[in-house]
Amino acid sequence: MVIEKIRVSIGSASVLKLTTSIILKDMPTTCYLMTYKEGHCFANCGFCPQARGSDSSTEKLSRVTWPVFPLKEVLSRLKNMPIEQQFQRACVQTLNYPENFRDIVEITSKIRGVFKNPISTAIPPLTKEKMKELKAVGINTIGISLDGATPEIFNKVKGKDVNGPYKWEIHYKCLKDALDVFSKGFVSTHLIVGFGESHEELLERIQDLHDMSITVSLFAFTPIKGTKFENMKQPPILDFRKIQLGRYLIVNNIKTYHDFHFDKTGKLLKFDISKVALRNYVEMSNPFITSGCPGCNRPYYTSRPSGPIYNYPRNLITREKEEIFKLLVNFAD
Ligand code: SF4
Repeated sequence: MVIEKIRVSIGSASVLKLTTSIILKDMPTTCYLMTYKEGHCFANCGFCPQARGSDSSTEKLSRVTWPVFPLKEVLSRLKNMPIEQQFQRACVQTLNYPENFRDIVEITSKIRGVFKNPISTAIPPLTKEKMKELKAVGINTIGISLDGATPEIFNKVKGKDVNGPYKWEIHYKCLKDALDVFSKGFVSTHLIVGFGESHEELLERIQDLHDMSITVSLFAFTPIKGTKFENMKQPPILDFRKIQLGRYLIVNNIKTYHDFHFDKTGKLLKFDISKVALRNYVEMSNPFITSGCPGCNRPYYTSRPSGPIYNYPRNLITREKEEIFKLLVNFAD
């Protein structure tokens, strides 16, 4: 079967000039694509509009819409983009359904034919043999999302507690297998902040994944109408900033999770950095910019353009630096 349709995030579609329906202040630097399938995903993640039990539109993933376009047209636009406007990366995502692997393989090989920069995929767990096949057709980086920071939270948000197919042990094993196939720096996972986990649990998980050489990126939980978790709140911005800075310190080997101080409930009290060092980290912006593969900025994926902005798709402006410094200053010495 030849694939005819593909979903493109509305921001990427705008860069490709496939739509004029939105003009974003910050444009995506990665081309975000998703395999097309009629109906919802076979999995049932409580936060996801694509979930089997969700009443949301299948046009959505997180708070972003993903309209459908002819694959031929998307390939032609990618091929003919002027060099200076080209995306730094393409990311092909897929839902969980029986033909998803076949679809990813076909789409990736076609993109590889017209696009020279790296290609990532975000995919549910799969065998090592299939990972090798993905690498052979042009995938550089593979992402397998844990989403939950602990086995209990994983079960609560995407495993047995929501009648989902996923098992923590299998996700972890797949991440390890992926390291054998794609090597260090080319295997990634996401954690979502805001499911009731403690700062300590999150930062301990980030340390563990970093020690395994897995790239960890962060999202803020975002309630979407029609999903099981539609009535839950986004995490307080202070919690997210703490985890962003903690993650940055861990993944850059500046601190380990053991250097941080927590109270009995796992709330972070101190980072073990000076106020001067905090000022420098805020000035550079990096800890607070979208984390993920190089070239991935995902504008407004989990934040409304009107704010609060959890992951910044660009460097911070002066006002934002001041806000973040003020929020975090009591956690530095
Ligand atoms: S597997 Fe992905 S697309 Fe499917 S319900 Fe879970 S998060 Fe959504």
